[in-house]
Amino acid sequence: MESQRFCRECERPLSGRRDKKFCNEYCKSAFHYKKNRKGNNFYLQVAQQLKMNRKLLKAYNKAGKATVRAEILLAQGFQPKFFTHYWKTRAGDVYLFVYEYGFLSRLENGKKKYVLVTWQPYMEKA
Ligand SMILES: [Zn+2]
Repeated sequence: MESQRFCRECERPLSGRRDKKFCNEYCKSAFHYKKNRKGNNFYLQVAQQLKMNRKLLKAYNKAGKATVRAEILLAQGFQPKFFTHYWKTRAGDVYLFVYEYGFLSRLENGKKKYVLVTWQPYMEKA
């Protein structure tokens, strides 16, 4: 006895060919359309988060270098997991960059802080 299969889109029971996954072309294209849209949403979410991170780093780094308490940025939507590239100093510190604005997490007196910098041409060689 074969187990009952269901349409992946509308979940109605399927009959006919064993390899059938959808009841018709309509369900098939609806399913793939949603799947693609989900993929694009992730792309857009990352793009938006990078934009937000860059905006915040820029706002708090008007002088080219600054130190700011992590919680201030986090409270405004900064997400340190989202960055575009990194720069490792000779001392081994890893600055994460969101385009031209970089940050380094540091613990100062038990408080998490970000040291903010801007991208410099010499960093490309490191
Ligand atoms: Zn269906």
